[in-house]
Amino acid sequence: MAVKPSEKEVELEDGKIPKDTRTSDYAKHCQDGHPYDPDCMVCNQGYMRSKMAMRRPGDTKKAESYMHLLEGVNTDILHYNDVDADGNIGLSGVILPKTAFPEGENITNKRAITKTKAWVKMSTRIESLTDPGGINGYKLQRVHQDQGSENKGEHAAALGDSNIVKTTTHRDWHQGSSAIEGMFGRVQTKAAAIGVGAFGQQQHLMVQSMGTRVKHSLKLMQFKPTTPSQKEQEISPIQEQYHMLSQNEKPKYTYGSLVIGFIPKDERPNKTGPRAFRGFYAGNNEDIPGDIIVHPFTTSEDGKNWEILPSLSLNKFKMCEGVMILASPPGKYGGIPMEFRKPSEGEMTYAEVREEFFVPYLVEPDSDSEDDSDSEEEAEEEWEIEKIVSHRILGDGTVKYRVRW
Ligand SMILES: [Zn+2]
Repeated sequence: MAVKPSEKEVELEDGKIPKDTRTSDYAKHCQDGHPYDPDCMVCNQGYMRSKMAMRRPGDTKKAESYMHLLEGVNTDILHYNDVDADGNIGLSGVILPKTAFPEGENITNKRAITKTKAWVKMSTRIESLTDPGGINGYKLQRVHQDQGSENKGEHAAALGDSNIVKTTTHRDWHQGSSAIEGMFGRVQTKAAAIGVGAFGQQQHLMVQSMGTRVKHSLKLMQFKPTTPSQKEQEISPIQEQYHMLSQNEKPKYTYGSLVIGFIPKDERPNKTGPRAFRGFYAGNNEDIPGDIIVHPFTTSEDGKNWEILPSLSLNKFKMCEGVMILASPPGKYGGIPMEFRKPSEGEMTYAEVREEFFVPYLVEPDSDSEDDSDSEEEAEEEWEIEKIVSHRILGDGTVKYRVRW
């Protein structure tokens, strides 16, 4: 039992010892040792002080050394083995060893400069949200991987002399695989489930949506208790890494939900033209709060299948949460009434949507080799595409382009 004095005892003291001034709810919260409550100031201060990302594993007191603020992380590439509607072929991913916080950026090719750019974007975001204003000097650094030329050439140049450290591999919380492999496994499982929810068994839609599905899955994983201590305390990686209040930023919508996107007045071709178009929700924009990521969609020319168009960021929209319009093909009976699958008045037709939003990505000569930072190879990849001659969408959903060099 908690050490709460009985009412009687307090009164017996003849008013000299004040009563517990807390409300009974708050008293219980204190007696329970402050299980995290976002409205409690003590909780917020306390949890900030013990921020996991700022600690060395096993440390109880704040270390004086700056080394504990240099967090070493491994990055790796998750290969999609296909190309999505945005031209993505894979994900450059990272997981922070202390907090199991996962992050990633889609990449459209495997060139070293592309991977480096993805790393800079991710690490900058994580650093600035972990340690706003850089007050504590928190820095991420890539850990050397025994992987051929990974850190030669462009990589080394981009990393500057920001000391590449060699450490042992960070193990996952499950035995036997590295943390990043484990993270990729979990993200793939989640992305697959999200895909089935949005597109049923339509494989070409699974392919076309790979990048945004994986990004959205990663986002959701940031909010799910992962390490044993997180599970015990019921806190999430993002709370441990950024701020306890970050939990409130968990996406509220379901991937695949119908979104009506509104076209700003000054971007409409004419006053009587359509004001809106159809797309589906594909995540929140990480860089612009309040914006969402949407894939406009259309039908194939014969009207029998849906086709997903490149994603865009939207500020003005109407969300139809849970309306999974792409879950069954346009002409097949499913969860959504047939009438509702056609654009309403004021919305672009699917042909107009195709015309407006289909932006073919440029094909790049595929280099399958992982170690592509060799300067000669780089030079060979500097092709300029003069013109896309034609494109077609194959039965399995892949898009092939004929280009002129
Ligand atoms: Zn509290």
